[in-house]
Amino acid sequence: MGATFQPVTRQNLADDLAQRINDMILRREYESGDRLPSIAAMATQFGVGAPTLREALRKLEAVGVVDIRHGSGVYVSAEQGTMLLTNPVFAAPASTKLLVDLIEARIPIEIQSATHAARNATREQLGEMRRLLDRASANLDDATVLNETNLAFHREIARASGNTVMAQLLEVLSSLFREEQRLIMDIHGSRRDDHREHIAILDALERRRDKLAGERMKAHLEGVRDVLVRWDPKKTPVSTPNAGDAARSGAMPATARHQSRRQSPRGGRGK
Ligand SMILES: [Zn+2]
Repeated sequence: MGATFQPVTRQNLADDLAQRINDMILRREYESGDRLPSIAAMATQFGVGAPTLREALRKLEAVGVVDIRHGSGVYVSAEQGTMLLTNPVFAAPASTKLLVDLIEARIPIEIQSATHAARNATREQLGEMRRLLDRASANLDDATVLNETNLAFHREIARASGNTVMAQLLEVLSSLFREEQRLIMDIHGSRRDDHREHIAILDALERRRDKLAGERMKAHLEGVRDVLVRWDPKKTPVSTPNAGDAARSGAMPATARHQSRRQSPRGGRGK
C-alpha cells in the first residue's frame, strides 16, 4: 500500500488538542489547582470550535488531568504530576483512580467471559490459551513479552466466551489502555502469582467448570484491584516523565513491586 492520507476528523482534532493542552500542563505552564482560560478564550487561541475544545477537555478529564467544574471553570487536577507516562493514544498522567476504574470495568466483563468460555471454548481456543501460558512462563523475566502474552490470554478467554460484544469490549479496553495495563502489572507485582492464577483459570476452563472459572477470574482481578487501591504513587512511583522507554523495557524500580506486594492482602494465601 502507498501513503495513506487519513481524513482529519473532529475526533483526531480533539485528540490532538488534548495532547497539546496536556503538554502545556506537563511544561508547568499551568500547575495543579490552576484554572485554565475560559473555553471561548482557549478555542480562539487554538483556532478551533468550542465543541472540539470541550471534547478535548472531557478526554483529559477522563484520565484525571483536569477537573471540569460546571459554572466555575476547568482546573488542573490536584493529582497532577504524581506520575506521568506515555500512552499511545495521547500522553496523560495515569491516576490511581484511572487504574482502579479500568480494572473494575474489566471485572464483570471478564467474570462473564470466563463463565461462558468454560462452556463454549473450542479445543483450538483452549490450545491457544495453553500456548500463551507456556509462552508467559518462559518469559516471566521479560515484562514486555509477558504483558502482551497475559493480555492476549485474557482476550482469548473473552473470544472463547462466544459473546462478541464482551470480546470487543475487552479488545477496546486493552487497546485504549495498553500502557495502563502494563503499569497495573508492575504495580501488581508478583508475576509468578499472577501466572499461577492464570493457570488455575485455564484449568477450570479445560474441565468445563463454568462457576469455578468465573470465581477464579473474580478472585484474580479483585486481587489486582486490591493492590491498586493501596498503591500510593508518591511513595512508590513506577514511572516518571520521559521514562516511557524504561517502562517498556521493564526497568521499573523494584520498590514499587515489593512494597505493593507486601501491602497486598493476598500475600499468604499460597495459591
Ligand atoms: Zn491476568
